[in-house]
Amino acid sequence: MNAVLHVIGAGLAGLSCAVEARRRGLAVSLHEAAPHAGGRCRSFFDRRLNRTVDNGNHLLLSANTAVLDYCRLVGGDSALTEAPAAFPFMDLADGTRWTVRPNTGRVPWWLLAPGRRVPDVGLDAYVSLLALPPHKSETVAGRWGRNPLYRRLIEPLSTAILNTEPEKASAALLRRVLIETLGRGAAGCRPVLAPVGLGAALVDPAVEWLRGAEVSLHTSDALTRIESSGGRVCALEFQKARMPLGPQDAVVLAVPPAVAHRLLPSVAPPLDTRPILNAHFALDAPDAPPLVGVVGGLAQWLFVRPGMVSVTVSQPGPAAERPVDVLAGALWKDVVAVLGLAGKEMPPCRIIKERRATLAHSPEQEILRPGPRTPLTNLWLAGDWTDTGLPCTLEGAVRSGLWAARMVAEA
Ligand SMILES: Cc1cc2nc3c(=O)[nH]c(=O)nc-3n(C[C@H](O)[C@H](O)[C@H](O)COP(=O)(O)OP(=O)(O)OC[C@H]3O[C@@H](n4cnc5c(N)ncnc54)[C@H](O)[C@@H]3O)c2cc1C
Repeated sequence: MNAVLHVIGAGLAGLSCAVEARRRGLAVSLHEAAPHAGGRCRSFFDRRLNRTVDNGNHLLLSANTAVLDYCRLVGGDSALTEAPAAFPFMDLADGTRWTVRPNTGRVPWWLLAPGRRVPDVGLDAYVSLLALPPHKSETVAGRWGRNPLYRRLIEPLSTAILNTEPEKASAALLRRVLIETLGRGAAGCRPVLAPVGLGAALVDPAVEWLRGAEVSLHTSDALTRIESSGGRVCALEFQKARMPLGPQDAVVLAVPPAVAHRLLPSVAPPLDTRPILNAHFALDAPDAPPLVGVVGGLAQWLFVRPGMVSVTVSQPGPAAERPVDVLAGALWKDVVAVLGLAGKEMPPCRIIKERRATLAHSPEQEILRPGPRTPLTNLWLAGDWTDTGLPCTLEGAVRSGLWAARMVAEA
């Protein structure tokens, strides 16, 4: 009988792992606990809004080449659009507006053009942001808290990228992402958006691709126990059935960190996570830019697509506990100010709180992120929380899935 790779978890890490392993000629079986694939990146039809919404806004950038290649491969790229590298911001405290606009090419001459950067902040503030690498124990606030760019650029980017309080977030990790994106100029910073939703770009085409490649996707099929013997996995127990493994069979565990730890206690990943809150308003704002950064309000980013304005609040803290109608009202106030909609009645709104959206990216947690290998010779790990060198992101998830598939194929 042919060897089979069992991929557990059909989030972006599991999907990309299954696709890559199949491309390398392995027989693959994909098992997912939920009734659908996608994990923390999924779309669904919302009856109240009468629209397809995403569980949360996801920003991809042109630097996220692993995700974009995966998307092209499975045929989801037609559901993505690329916008120019221009990030409009508004400070709600005093109404100031500006646009961060990196130039094409590696020489960052945009830093010399006042109209392309944060107002009233000199060039030296940008230089100190990317100059010397921080020590791995330094936090964002500790490293750059006194930088004049802190409130209007560093803190918003840190919160969005690391989803962690800047007083606790790893400065080294933020710098790594900024070098991969801003450091490449416009080429690395073009926003890649999914105007009809993430599912149509990143999930549904992959499920179709896998089906066409004879990969079975078993949904509502949670793995409940891993049996091992002689240093390798010998059987998998699912909710529905027990599956003995053949001597050549392998497993990739692409589940969230707490589940991986429960199934395999010898894996001790970081377990401290942070939520992300999203509010989707059923609203057409055809003249608004696709993405706006907000400083000084409860809203942090506005994503605008046909028929919808969505607001992201990363690591919202106690605000997440407010009743949903209070939250919706507060976020709508910010939307009105940013988009100039004074007097407009609040449209139907859906609030989604993802309680364990990402890891808390503190220096203490970063050193706990494990690589793909495990003590069991035929079991590998994947997932955004593994040691990808990136924060918990789609790019990290896809890279981890690709690495795990390559390691299995090589083994
Ligand atoms: C609201 C929100 C906003 C975000 N914004 C961004 C953004 O702007 N940009 C960005 O790049 N990233 C963003 N992210 C992060 C991104 O969504 C994740 O990094 C990525 O989706 C993680 O993929 P994954 O496959 O590693 O994990 P998951 O998506 O969590 O996949 C794990 C899968 O395992 C399944 N599973 C769990 N237990 C079992 C079991 N016992 N048996 C079988 N299956 C199991 C789960 O159901 C799930 O489908 C955001 C996340 C959230 C929640």
